[in-house]
Amino acid sequence: MGTLKLYLDDPYLIEFESNVMEYNGKILVLERTAFYPEGGGQPCDTGKILGNREYNVIKVFKEGDIVYHELDSEFLGEKNVRGVIDWEKRYLHMRHHTAIHILSGILFKDYGARITGSQIYTDKARMDINYELSKDKLPEIEAKANDIVKKGLDVVWYYIDRKDFKEDMVRIREDLLPGDEKLRIVEIKGFDLQADGGTHVKNTAEVGTIKISKYENKGKMNKRIYINLL
Ligand SMILES: [Zn+2]
Repeated sequence: MGTLKLYLDDPYLIEFESNVMEYNGKILVLERTAFYPEGGGQPCDTGKILGNREYNVIKVFKEGDIVYHELDSEFLGEKNVRGVIDWEKRYLHMRHHTAIHILSGILFKDYGARITGSQIYTDKARMDINYELSKDKLPEIEAKANDIVKKGLDVVWYYIDRKDFKEDMVRIREDLLPGDEKLRIVEIKGFDLQADGGTHVKNTAEVGTIKISKYENKGKMNKRIYINLL
């Protein structure tokens, strides 16, 4: 049985309780978790597990359908625990993730460009673009992205059957799960949608002003940009 991934339905959930499924040394598996495991260009959450003592969660990762929490000390065998995620860090990840979707939506719709990779950090995000993007286009792209922010569009997430999946639902080759019958879609209402397993803010206004801070020319069809949020 897989871990119930609370972060998929409610990315704003900071605290939760769960029964312990299994543990081995510093590695803990819970029945349900709000901790996001590393994946899809989004870093894992950190935080605390509270049982008979307090454990720091230093890493979270996923194998198959199971989420593993790596603690800073050996787990003592409590039957159930409370988890608290480091919200400040997670919220920065959410804002950057939605910012990447806004930019990749614009790049795809207005320029026909695909994103070949992305990485989110707490203070910036990076995108690799498979397109002959010249540097002088960046102010225009940045302005379009900030228009979407200013419009305050709702962001929603839901599942579709795999048979209803269309190629144009992918902007970013990130974490499509082969074999899953259901695909999770993240939609910026009235703008764009993408197949995605990450955590997002619920309105584009929460992203804040997007600044394209760095441009690297890594080849004719290979450009890298960095963004910051103000
Ligand atoms: Zn994404």
